[in-house]
Amino acid sequence: MTARIIDGKAFASKVRARVKDEVAALKTETGVTPGLAVVLVGDDPASQVYVRSKGKMTVEVGMKSYEHRLPADCSQETLLNLVRDLNENADVHGILVQLPLPEHLNEFDIINAIDPAKDVDGFHISNVGLLATGQKAMVPCTPLGCLMMLREEHGSLSGLNAVVVGRSNIVGKPMAQLLLRDSCTVTIAHSRTREIEALCRRADILVAAVGRAEMITGDWVKPGATVIDVGINRIDAPEKGEGKTRLVGDVDFASAAAVAGAITPVPGGVGPMTIACLLANTLTACCRELGHPEPEGLTA
Ligand code: NDP
Repeated sequence: MTARIIDGKAFASKVRARVKDEVAALKTETGVTPGLAVVLVGDDPASQVYVRSKGKMTVEVGMKSYEHRLPADCSQETLLNLVRDLNENADVHGILVQLPLPEHLNEFDIINAIDPAKDVDGFHISNVGLLATGQKAMVPCTPLGCLMMLREEHGSLSGLNAVVVGRSNIVGKPMAQLLLRDSCTVTIAHSRTREIEALCRRADILVAAVGRAEMITGDWVKPGATVIDVGINRIDAPEKGEGKTRLVGDVDFASAAAVAGAITPVPGGVGPMTIACLLANTLTACCRELGHPEPEGLTA
């Protein structure tokens, strides 16, 4: 069997086009333009790339983009004050503090200072609780993007066996909550899980969010399963020349694609969907703030 490749880049482009149309309609009807504020602390090169790309795409869909940069040694109070200002700013409907933060800052305290209604990353403790109890929440972007792709692939997910490898707060746990909400039978695996290969082989839906290059090989995959590879790992690529690198996922694409029914590639799978969902979440936050009907299919 050769798996169907789920084209996250094309899907994300469709989601962004939809967001753009909805933003234009919202502006016409209400005169309000959704605004997204991104806060970057320090000069981590990968974070800078993400922030630039988020800003560019925010503008492309017709929203306002606000970028705030703070030095790596900024104090907790300085960052908290900025977050409080953004909470009060009526032009800002979404706030994202780029993670990871420098070690001297308390990530939980910063995230929990964001107004939950503007928490477009869905990491605030209120949103985590709302999601876990099946209430209307802001849903973390990466798992939301995975869910959208899975719904597109399967229609209903009800009754399917899902295994999520990884239990982080930003991917693994919210992914499991979303799959449970869609009536999958969900297992979360992690570094202490026993007989993990056999467990994964029972999955109709296998989500890999581990951060270990090509860890999951074809013999972990149930024939015909849908494999969603969240991992982004940079590895050496001597075949491209000395000192060159390339991106790979947590799944060994070639061997897994030979067994799976459908699979996301890296790059070009989950990654583009994450930013598209951030824009969707900003629109959703703005609609909720205005009491305007939320566009269908852009939230969980
Ligand atoms: P974390 O490091 O926070 O979590 C990794 C998880 O994997 C942990 O729960 C850990 O288990 C588990 N794990 C580690 N080693 C193993 C192993 N050998 N077997 C089973 N489980 C293991 O990572 P994130 O969730 O933040 O990210 C995961 C990956 O997804 C990374 O590659 C990251 O770059 C990528 N990512 C991609 C995004 C995108 O937009 N596409 C967005 C966010 C992340 P334990 O808890 O027991 O330590």
